[in-house]
Amino acid sequence: MTTALIDHPFPWPEGKRCAVCISFDIDAESLVHLGYREEADNKVMTRSEARYDAEVATPRLLAVFRNHGLRQTFFVPAWCLENYKDLAKSILADGHEIAHHGYMHENPNKLSDADDRAWFRRAVKTIEKTTGRKPAGFRAPSYGFSRISLELMLEAGMIYDASLMGHDIPYLLKHAKGSLIELPSQRALDDWTYFVMSRDYNWMMPIAPPEHAFAVYRAEFDAAWRHGGLWVAVWHPFATGRLSRCEAMDQLIDYMKGKGGVWFATMEEIAIHARAMLDAGRWKPFVQELPYATGLVPALAQA
Ligand SMILES: [Zn+2]
Repeated sequence: MTTALIDHPFPWPEGKRCAVCISFDIDAESLVHLGYREEADNKVMTRSEARYDAEVATPRLLAVFRNHGLRQTFFVPAWCLENYKDLAKSILADGHEIAHHGYMHENPNKLSDADDRAWFRRAVKTIEKTTGRKPAGFRAPSYGFSRISLELMLEAGMIYDASLMGHDIPYLLKHAKGSLIELPSQRALDDWTYFVMSRDYNWMMPIAPPEHAFAVYRAEFDAAWRHGGLWVAVWHPFATGRLSRCEAMDQLIDYMKGKGGVWFATMEEIAIHARAMLDAGRWKPFVQELPYATGLVPALAQA
């Protein structure tokens, strides 16, 4: 007998045991420009790898999704949508979702509130202009969800966030100004953890075969399948779109399909379903209210 591990079971659609969203963050050269404002023109190798993200790996991943008949979610800094001309068009042509990932991959919780707000709104406008619609959701660049991120999302009419790690299933984020659906992930499903080696990004993971990461991804998927969880990849084309890892991803999708009862969906679709279940009184969510607190905790304020 397996112990039930989730206290607030989530009502997945009829016949589905769990949901999978293989979401990709297409950061491309935004990271180089952000990190090396004056020197970016002298970072040719790093930029070649960053361009590979948008120009080679993304079309390859789109082909894999097309082959499997999947529609998924791409989080893209708005600057990338403006600067890689066919990027938005090719993603949208296959019915995928494009969501908010900052303007230039600026880290929200390292900005002033005023700058955070300005960049956030600028990205919303650019996404609307490029895709023809407002983004439904947000993943904070570098997971840098700020003290005002939730408020900014609510102001922009968004319905979900994908930056936090507070549960294994969708949950409700509440704020004085409203609420939205949190679609959490976790470090174990982020490919930077396994595959990224870059001196310019100051991130040096040792080279490992695809199985090193995919064994973890698969274990997390098997557990999500058994317990009704949400499995959200936080992958990057320049890391997971390399040949051997792309093959492993192809095989993992086959494996997931083979298990049966898996709902492959975009983040937006999952959020719409969650809100409908909530409104129908069919889901009693785990709830977190933001902000958790402001300023110092009392114990430190007194010290
Ligand atoms: Zn990113």
